[in-house]
Amino acid sequence: MTSQRRAELLANLARVGERIEEATRTAGRAPGEVTLVVVTKTYPAADVDLLADLGVRHIGENRHPEAGDKHAAVTGDRPLVWHFVGGLQTNKASAVARYADVIESVDRGPLVGALSTGALRAGRDLDCLVQVDLEPEQREVRSGCRPDEVPDLAEAVARADGLRLGGLMALAPLGADPRPAFERLAQLAARLRSEHPDAVVLSAGMSGDLEAGIEAGATHVRIGRAVLGERPRSR
Ligand SMILES: *Cc1c(COP(=O)(O)O)cnc(C)c1O
Repeated sequence: MTSQRRAELLANLARVGERIEEATRTAGRAPGEVTLVVVTKTYPAADVDLLADLGVRHIGENRHPEAGDKHAAVTGDRPLVWHFVGGLQTNKASAVARYADVIESVDRGPLVGALSTGALRAGRDLDCLVQVDLEPEQREVRSGCRPDEVPDLAEAVARADGLRLGGLMALAPLGADPRPAFERLAQLAARLRSEHPDAVVLSAGMSGDLEAGIEAGATHVRIGRAVLGERPRSR
């Protein structure tokens, strides 16, 4: 029932809001510095509507076409900012450029060109984050560029028509203490800002590790399960 789901989302948002507030205070940072992105993958557009009613402004999705379908199905003139946070195939970049406002998963040069083309065609400007894999040697499937590739990729985004360089995004290593990895991310972010002073976004922290992300300086946390509930099939 909608009213029941609404109450559940409201309670979860309150809990997550408290966690963010507490972590921000503990880190000695100013209140309101951290933006919540609610990752709605696998959940229906009706949940996005409810979240928007409850004041959520930033929605994250990780797959095309699911993300585009949901974007189209959300009702009314919602002032939402749509973040694409998943691995993005080059041949889908143009389609995603039509509805996403922020691409958090820019991890290779060819994708920069494809997103730029898509943004120009759509007549839109896209905010882009360079996704960095903090432990590239430990993963079977790479999730982001290598840390040493960040400067060139960031430069390519900054120079591309229709794209704006926002900053960095990363996932914590699976099943390990996220703090050392997030510390390395913070150093990469500081280095990036010395070259690109406007690239101040740092997207780090999910349901299980948002405190570590905020401690490391995250400006955005990407939260799925802690707001929406456990996904039927986790991904
Ligand atoms: C699913 C997902 C999240 C949210 O993860 P939760 O553990 O559900 O909070 C964050 N970032 C990315 C890239 C995701 O795919």
